[in-house]
Amino acid sequence: MSAKKLDFSSRGWGRVCLLSVLGTLGCIAVAFAIDSYSFETGMWRWGSDPWNNFFIPLVLGPPIFGFLLSRQRALAIAHHRLMIVASTDGLTSCLTRSAFTTLVDAYLEKVAAEENRREGALLVIDVDNFKNINDSFGHDRGDEALKVIANTIKGAVREIDLVGRLGGEEFSVFLPGLDSDRTAAVAERIRAAINAAEFVPDGQRCALSVSVGGATFERSASFAQLYKHADLRLYAAKRNGRNRVEIARAAGLDGSAGPVMH
Ligand code: GH3
Ligand code: MG
Ligand code: MG
Repeated sequence: MSAKKLDFSSRGWGRVCLLSVLGTLGCIAVAFAIDSYSFETGMWRWGSDPWNNFFIPLVLGPPIFGFLLSRQRALAIAHHRLMIVASTDGLTSCLTRSAFTTLVDAYLEKVAAEENRREGALLVIDVDNFKNINDSFGHDRGDEALKVIANTIKGAVREIDLVGRLGGEEFSVFLPGLDSDRTAAVAERIRAAINAAEFVPDGQRCALSVSVGGATFERSASFAQLYKHADLRLYAAKRNGRNRVEIARAAGLDGSAGPVMH
């Protein structure tokens, strides 16, 4: 039996079948209980036609429960799809800014309560001279470049990492569980992969580049704190020539240390 058939979530047929069976059994039990109890004598005994208590719920229960629960399942699927649409950027399929910040803050709140596994990092990625791409090749080609960049970022990170489009040509990646060194390696991998990505507007390859600012954390932090530090490093990367990575170490979150990598 495939895993799909065993889906007992609110969107799965498994739940519809299981609850239909349980509901029908419940109806049979209630029918027997009502029919078998004498309210006059206060005694339990067999009713006049106990088979009816079995057959009537058995015939009516499954279609009624099945219908109601499958309607509920359809609503759950529609709700799930709406949630995905509402939290996904239409152009790049990255998380929207609000979905991204909500998920990052939820993760940070969760790890703040745990003693171990507090490490991680936030990267802010801004496309270099993107206005030139729009001006040279048009807005549609600019949109294509954003899709290439988003797909390249997603291809360079793990399944558990979060990738969001914060707005315009600015992306962000949340890397739970990574220390400074591994964060620097991932940021560099993203930068290099985008620089090597195939973007061929009007038949001629156009090299894309991004500047990456990052902030790592080793103790509880909020998205706003991390973003502030990562954004400062992003501006430093822009100032220092673009197409480069700059990371602020966790200690920088309380203002005690500056960048650790150029
Ligand atoms: P810098 O290296 O300093 O970041 O330069 P830049 O040109 O990338 O930065 P700037 O902020 O001047 O320009 C960003 C441009 O991105 C301007 C805006 O028109 C364009 N842009 C924002 N959102 C979209 C979009 O969804 N599609 C397209 N095609 N362009 C967009
Ligand atoms: Mg830019
Ligand atoms: Mg920008």
